[in-house]
Amino acid sequence: MHKKIIAGNWKMHGSLAANERLLDLLLAGSEDLACTLVVCAPHVYLAPCARRINGGGVRLGAQDLSARNGGAYTGEISAAMLAEVGCQYVIVGHSERRRLYQDSDEVVARKLGNALAAGLAPILCIGETMAEHQAGRTHAVLAAQLQAALASQPQPLSQQLVIAYEPVWAIGTGLSATPEVVQAAHQFIRCEVGRIYPTASARIPILYGGSMKPENAAALLAMPDVDGGLVGGASLDAADFLAIARAVNLRDQ
Ligand code: PEP
Repeated sequence: MHKKIIAGNWKMHGSLAANERLLDLLLAGSEDLACTLVVCAPHVYLAPCARRINGGGVRLGAQDLSARNGGAYTGEISAAMLAEVGCQYVIVGHSERRRLYQDSDEVVARKLGNALAAGLAPILCIGETMAEHQAGRTHAVLAAQLQAALASQPQPLSQQLVIAYEPVWAIGTGLSATPEVVQAAHQFIRCEVGRIYPTASARIPILYGGSMKPENAAALLAMPDVDGGLVGGASLDAADFLAIARAVNLRDQ
């Protein structure tokens, strides 16, 4: 059984000095945690973060990677480059990338494949918009996003995959989905992954993301199919992020 994963997505926040201060506080508070703590830093801060972590209790992740593996692609960063500077995780298909930077299902699938091939653990983000939620289309959207991302990956699906259920309407809005809604979505996701990869679904961690905070984390993380959280806003405050990590109960493992 995996430890639960609490991953922070710092997005395009902070500065070198501010992010190093934040990381130092997390490293100091990470010793007795029952979960795996991950920070996904902006690309330019990955190498300095890796040097600071230096074997400490925080794992490093990136927020995106290229759909290409190398060559004349100005501004792109490959999976191998991320692995080389010490990343173990990378977020793939975050709704902000899909919506603002036109990451299509095909691009997301290529990024996912590149991350897996480089030995990174991709955190594949899927989730429905408010309009889709209100139209009762959540399961259809999740099934389509999973099929598009996973069906073209080589069998057997690698051990590294992590999925994050992130309802778009809950991201950065303060409107978290209820634990019951999250559990139902996670159960559906596990079932769908099982249809695509019959032997893999039980061991794939499924994280919840969307306005997770110290106040709602324990109830969300207590759900049987919730294997951790992907945290945006609250990961920028060391006390809040560590409080979420501490909401993972040893009994839950
Ligand atoms: C996210 O951006 O992945 C996220 C979950 O953000 P927030 O926690 O701020 O809703």
